[in-house]
Amino acid sequence: MYIDNDIFSAVIVAAKELYPEIDALIHWDPTLSGDGFKEKVGRALTFQKPYYGYTFFPNDDMEPIPIVGISPHIKVTAAAEVLAHEFAHVVVGKDAGHDRTWSDAFSAIHKRANEIMVRVMAEV
Ligand SMILES: [Zn+2]
Repeated sequence: MYIDNDIFSAVIVAAKELYPEIDALIHWDPTLSGDGFKEKVGRALTFQKPYYGYTFFPNDDMEPIPIVGISPHIKVTAAAEVLAHEFAHVVVGKDAGHDRTWSDAFSAIHKRANEIMVRVMAEV
């Protein structure tokens, strides 16, 4: 058994095609935010920002690759977009933030993943 239209695999394949030098450990992190109505209202009432993902860059050789955390409490398509967002951070490095190089990397990964999904959906 397998998922025949796995959007996460599309994002991973897209990132590896475009940036073969990058690597990361992807982790479903249950401590991250959800996007349900109750959680949104709760955050609004307490002025909290949602956190759907992160990229942790290791400081030493014990953890040689970045760790990408993704919320398991959001829609699958949103989680795939967060994965592309965090991969763009891996591409541009720890200090780049959301600058133009990050934006270009995110757009490239997002575009390529969508192309892969269009091709996969045509085959299903
Ligand atoms: Zn970011």
